[in-house]
This record gives sequence, structure tokens and C-alpha cells, in this order.
Amino acid sequence: MTATTYADQLAFDREHLWHPYTSMTSPAPVRLVTGASGARLRVADPARGEVELVDAMSSWWAAIHGYRHPVLDAAVSAQVGDFAHVMFGGLTHAPAIRLGERLVEITPDGLDHVFLADSGSVSVEVALKMVLQHQRGTGRPERTRLLTVRGGYHGDTFHPMSVTDPDGGMHSMWRGVLPEHVFAPQPPAADATGAEVSAWADAVRALVAEHARELAGIVVEPLLQGAGGMHPYPVECLRLLREVADEHDLVLVFDEIATGFGRTGHLFVSELVTPDVLCVGKALTGGYVTLAAVLTNGRIAAGISASESGVLMHGPTFMGNPLACAVALASIDLLLDGDWTAEVDRINRRLTAGLAPLRDLPGVADVRTVGAVGVVQLDHDVDVAGATDASVAAGVWLRPFRDLVYAMPPYVTSDAELDVLLGGITEAVKAG
Ligand SMILES: *Cc1c(COP(=O)(O)O)cnc(C)c1O
Repeated sequence: MTATTYADQLAFDREHLWHPYTSMTSPAPVRLVTGASGARLRVADPARGEVELVDAMSSWWAAIHGYRHPVLDAAVSAQVGDFAHVMFGGLTHAPAIRLGERLVEITPDGLDHVFLADSGSVSVEVALKMVLQHQRGTGRPERTRLLTVRGGYHGDTFHPMSVTDPDGGMHSMWRGVLPEHVFAPQPPAADATGAEVSAWADAVRALVAEHARELAGIVVEPLLQGAGGMHPYPVECLRLLREVADEHDLVLVFDEIATGFGRTGHLFVSELVTPDVLCVGKALTGGYVTLAAVLTNGRIAAGISASESGVLMHGPTFMGNPLACAVALASIDLLLDGDWTAEVDRINRRLTAGLAPLRDLPGVADVRTVGAVGVVQLDHDVDVAGATDASVAAGVWLRPFRDLVYAMPPYVTSDAELDVLLGGITEAVKAG
């Protein structure tokens, strides 16, 4: 029997489909999307019929150009007309080659070697494997641990989870299963004083010195921690990490899966401080299909190739998927051909001005913006269902978590849509 009515579809979903971080026995409510275009989602409401919502989430940082963009739609169609997929073992194709070229061109000099992975978490797995294989290849197989900072998020598969914040990654539940890495304190806030930054730097230096002989690399989300707490921090912290990595022969990995492609106002934060390994994902395909990439420099690539296997031991079935590569290339060209810095700046100014008054609402602990990201932190955990209902009633799709109500809209969101979005955030904060 096929579920046809909205109510039937939602009933099947509730009985059978897992959604992110939900219970199967008592799932949180979900809404049925029936269409999406530009910065808007169309959602079926069993009571009200169809409603349009301004999307504040870009489908988790991904849909930077909005939905049903004609250029991206055309890129997918054209590639479907050629071929949708072929294996990457022993074969190659123009979409992968052209995307590789573009990624090498737009990322910092030296990051010349590209691994096309099939999701962000997998790219972090690959990056960590690169770090460990490089250490093995350069005669330091005892170096098997990683240094990271508290408050991070690197994905849900096991190794990325092991470098995610110990509380956010539920390390106590996974004790004995997850490898145990070295956690430095969370970097101070973006507006921290020089003294706060130096205190953090001292703590990091001390930890690295203590563990230097067993550390293989450092992995962080540069400048803005995303799903771990929407926490922007000073670029000086990244310079310090680069310095200690160089002093101790550690491989520096920047996870730019959330920050990449302009979201913070920089095309990549890696333009400010260059890592040895760079992960990108999420907005890579403009949110059309899953794809991630890991870029590294010749030195790390040589180390990996000198390890006992002589090769990088990884190769997912859908590596370099042509549809994903074609739409990624189109998305990057669309971004670079447009005035994305002006769009991100426009969104930043409107979010900054529009969110500032929320500081005075009861229950609001902090308001912050960076690039095209706006965050309201409450002094308590958000009532997610209540806040979501309130924002949907105001015509906005939001997905609060923990104590955070936040937005990272598509860059194509108009000023009028941003005003609707700000209204939705306000209602969510009041209800949350
Ligand atoms: C989302 C995210 C990941 C994981 O990517 P998936 O595609 O969900 O596996 C890793 N790191 C960061 C910083 C992310 O934001």
C-alpha cells in the first residue's frame, strides 16, 4: 500500500524512518517538504495545506545558492545525459578532473593533491588516515594521537566522533570504543582580550609539549566551531596552532566542511593560515548531493606514499561521483562569478542589526554573528518543538539545538526574506 495523503506519508515516516538524532519509539515531529526554490521551502501542513517557509538553515550549511537554481539544475541534467556514475578505480572523467583543477586553484598554494570523498565524515576519516600514514611514512609510527580543542564537531562516524567535543560526542558512553585523543581548552571567543588568547596559547603549548612524542596531528574547525556550539574565535589561535604544528612535526588539519565557500566572509579560512590538510564538504555541491574533498600538500602526500602500503588506503564505491562533481564545479563557478563577498556582507549587516535588540529579551545570554551566520544563545536549552512551531508560524524554517537558535541562510536570501527570517528567530527565542 502506498502512502498518498500527507497524513499517510507522515504516519509511515513516523513508524519507519529514522531522522537525525531521534528516537524510533517516540520520534520528534517532522514536516513534509513538497518543494523548494530560491531561499524558500514549501511544506505540507496537514491542517493548513501548503505553506512557504524562508529557509534559515541552507539545509545545514549546504544550499548556498538556494534551491532549484537553474544553473545547478542544468549541470545535473547535462551530466545525467552523459553518465551518472562510473567507478573511480582505474577510471577517471572530466567532471572529477575539472573539479580537482578548480579546487587546487581556489585553495591556498601547495594544497595540490585532492581526494574526493562521499561525505564530510568520510573526508575527516580520510584526513586522519593521511595524518597517521604520513607519520608512519616518515618513521614515527608511535605517533597515533591527535590534538584538538573542546567544542568541536567533525562528524558522526567513529574517528570524527573521537575528535568531536567529548560531551557533544558522548565520549563517556563510548569509552572503550573510541580512541582517546588530547583535548585542549576551547579557544576563547572572537572578541577575547590579548591576555585570554595568551592564556589559551600557553595551555595548548603545554599540552603539546607533554604529548609531543605520541601526537601525529592537530585537527580543528578554523575560526568558527559549528555544530559543537556556533562559536567564533580569533585567528591568532590558528596562527598558534600552525606554529606548534611546525615546531613538533604535527600535521595540521583544518575541517572547513562548514566554514568553506564563503560562509565566514572568507572563501576559505585557510586563506588566513594554511593547513597541511583541508577538508571541504557541505556547500561544495551547492547542497545538491553529498560530496566532500580532502586536499593536502606534496610533503604529506610524499609521507603517505612512503608508508608501508605505499598508497593511501581508501577508496569509497562512489568516490568522485560524476553527478556530484559536475554540480560542485557549477556551484563553485556560480559562486566565484557572482559577488559573493557583497552578499555575505549584506547578510551579515542585516543579521547583526536585526539580532542586536534580542540581547534585551529575557533568557538571552549572547548574540553573535560572523559572515552569513547569526546566533542567539539562550541561558537554557531551547524547547525545540515549541521554538520550531513558533518560527514556522512566522514563516521561517529554523532548527535550534542545545541552547542555540541560529541562522545561516542561502546567500540568495533577499533583504525582505531576511526580515521575515529575523521575525522567525525572534518568535523562536520568545517561545524557546
Ligand atoms: C557537517 C560536518 C561534518 C560532517 O559532514 P557529513 O557530510 O555530515 O558527514 C564534519 N565536520 C564539520 C565541521 C561539519 O560541519
